Order: sequence, then C-alpha cells, then structure tokens
Amino acid sequence: MLRSLKILLLFLSLVPFAATASAQQAPPAPSPQTQTGSAPAYSLSGDKLQKAIEVSRIREIVHFVQAGWDITAILVLLWLGVFSRVRNIAENISSNVWIQCVIYMPLFLVLLTLIDLPLDLYMHTVSLKYGLSVQTWRGWIWDQTKGLLIGVALSYLPAMLLKLIFRKAPQKWWLIFWGASVPTIIVLVFIAPVVLEPLMNKYESLQPKSPALVDRLEQIVSRGGLVIPPARMFWMDASSKTTEMNAYVTGIGASKRVVVWDTTIAKLNLDETSVVFGHEMGHYVLNHIWRGIAFTIAVLFVTLFLAKLFIAWAIARYGGSWQVRGLSDWASLAVLMLALSIFGFLLEPVTNGFSRSMEHQADVYGMEAVHGIVPNPQESARSAFQKLGEASLVDPNPNAFVEFWTGSHPSIASRAAFAASYDPWQPGKQPEFFKK
Ligand SMILES: [Zn+2]
Repeated sequence: MLRSLKILLLFLSLVPFAATASAQQAPPAPSPQTQTGSAPAYSLSGDKLQKAIEVSRIREIVHFVQAGWDITAILVLLWLGVFSRVRNIAENISSNVWIQCVIYMPLFLVLLTLIDLPLDLYMHTVSLKYGLSVQTWRGWIWDQTKGLLIGVALSYLPAMLLKLIFRKAPQKWWLIFWGASVPTIIVLVFIAPVVLEPLMNKYESLQPKSPALVDRLEQIVSRGGLVIPPARMFWMDASSKTTEMNAYVTGIGASKRVVVWDTTIAKLNLDETSVVFGHEMGHYVLNHIWRGIAFTIAVLFVTLFLAKLFIAWAIARYGGSWQVRGLSDWASLAVLMLALSIFGFLLEPVTNGFSRSMEHQADVYGMEAVHGIVPNPQESARSAFQKLGEASLVDPNPNAFVEFWTGSHPSIASRAAFAASYDPWQPGKQPEFFKK
C-alpha cells in the first residue's frame, strides 16, 4: 500500500507492522561473528555481493530521502496554496460537510500519492532491474490504484471525525481522536486478513498446496502445545510479483492466521521452512500482535500529542500564507500530514527497536520449537537465512546506524550468526520457552 496513505491512516500502520516479514528486507547491522576464524553464517560473493551492496545503498538512501521529500513537498504545496484550492473546490460544490469530505479526501489523497510517485516509480524500476520484482508495470499500477481506492474508502470516517472534533474541541481533539483510534485499530487488524489483504493478493488454503508441509507444521504446532488448525494456514501467490520470500502471522481472534508465500515453499526445503514457521509461531504464541497493537496505541498517543502542539503553532504562524483558515479548515489535514510525516520519521528508531526485540524473541522461540523435529536446526536456520538474504539481495556487512533507524528486523547476518550457534540443549544451558 502507498506509504503516504499509511501515514495518514495511522490506524493502518499496524497492519503491516503486525504482519512483519520473517526475514524480508531484513535491514543492515553489524554482523557479530560468533565463530571467530570460521566463515560468517551469512555471506555473499562475486556478482551477488556487488548487487546486494548496490541495492542496499539504494534502499537506505531512498528511505531517508523519501522522508525529507514528503516533508518538503507538503510544505511547497502548502505555500503554493494547492490544499486551500482543493478546499475551495469542495466548498464551492456543497455547503454540506459530509459532501465536502467526499470531494476533498479523494483529491487530497491523490495529491499525496503524486508526491510519493517519483520515488515509488524509481524503486519499482530498481526492483525490476535487480530481479527482485517480476511484476509488470500494468500490475504494479493496478496495485497502486487499489491501494489508493482502499485509502479513500478507509479515510472517509476518520476525516469526518477530525473535521467535527477540530471544530468542537480544538484543545482536546488529539485525545478524542486517539480514543476513537483504539477500537478502530483493533477492528482493522481483525478485518485486514479477511477483507483488505485479499484485495491485494491471492490467498488459498495451504493444505492442498503442500500437504507434506502442513503435516510438518502440525508437528511443530503440537510441540508448542497449541492449536493452529490447517484452516488457519494460508498459501499466498507471491511469485507473480516477486522473487523474495516471506511468511507471517496476521489477524487477531477469529481472523488470526499463518501465511506462507509460495516463493518460500518453492525455494526452501522442509527443514528450512520449519525454522521459518517456528519463528512465525513464536509471534503467534507470544501474543506479538496484541503487544504490537498496545505499542502502536502508545506511540500514537505521543505522536498525536506532538502533532497537536505542532499544528497549533504552524497554523498560528503560517496559516495566513498557506491560506489555512484554522483547525476546522479541510486544508488543515495537510498540516496534520506534515506533522505525522515529521514525528513518524523521528519515532522510527523507537518503533523499529521494539519490533527488533520481538523479532529476536521469535527467532529464539523458533529455534526451540523445531528441536527434535528438524535434525539440525542450527544448520537449517543458517541455510534458510542464507537463501532469504540471497533472494532479497541483503548486504552481509550493513551499516549500524541504518539498522538502528530503519531496521524492523535484526540484520540477516546477525540473525544467521545467532541461529547457527544457538543450542540451549547443551549441558549447562536452559531453553527460554521449552523447558527440558
Ligand atoms: Zn518475525
């Protein structure tokens, strides 16, 4: 989905967060080499290494450039009076705010999409060039369009709510909006795998696609002492779009499920897939989705409070030159977007740090969960990380600052090194989750 829409619908930010990839786009970090003297657990050489370094640099630069670009572009459009003109169009068509919202929000979101378009186009070009994506331009444009339409549909009620509380409670709007967002986030996480995700990708039951895998997964599930019925295990058609691999847990309550991409099934053997699945089961068992929801709600509280202070200051100081008449003006949503872009970027190290700690915990759980089922979990995990890293062209020697700021997962290199040496069943050691 389009990034700017994700920021606007902070609610939705949790959906991809909760559904964190097991290894995809695992970001850079110093690679602790536990086995001094021997080969690193994850390595690339020759042409692959060269490509991985190039792609990693591009990803890193684009990530930071995009943050600055969004902020600058919104400021320029504010100064040019573009948002106030869109507001005028809406107000000239109707004096009814509910109808104004129908006109303003699609135009507003199209503008935000256009801001992101140059870098989005560039990144798809890069993905095609390096063979990470196999999606046609036609398919890509259709995905972007669907993302925009979903954003328009989902943003209507939050935008109306903001419009009303901006007018009625100019001091407390952020608190009311935050309060309303709590049930909204929970509902969106619940419906995402059932309603939203099928609009973007094709999901089918995993059982008929790979019965041997389901048998194996059930062994791991029962060792974990839980019940994930095969009906909660899904296969996703990723190979029509990407060469990368992924598996994740998504949804809550009755919609909670495990999703394995077809690329993962095709490229990893049963033991390697088992380790990846063990990691995902860790997210499932350790209630990472609920913890992610709670964390997102807490971060949203801080973000909205900062946004409230920022918007009051910005409109008082620049409202005249931006032609933003006040908080209850439709154009103030652009100032809110500006605030969310700034504070969202500044809070990235906090949200990613939280995510990395959960990912590491899931790695530990996964290694322990497959003990006794996979003959050599250390080697299977290492080779799984090797294949995941190769498929996504992950740099084996990444930059520590970039990981700190942008890494939702520990680096592939550090995860592979950890997995290759993690054996809590040795004398004198104790497993964390599966007691002897
Ligand atoms: Zn994970």
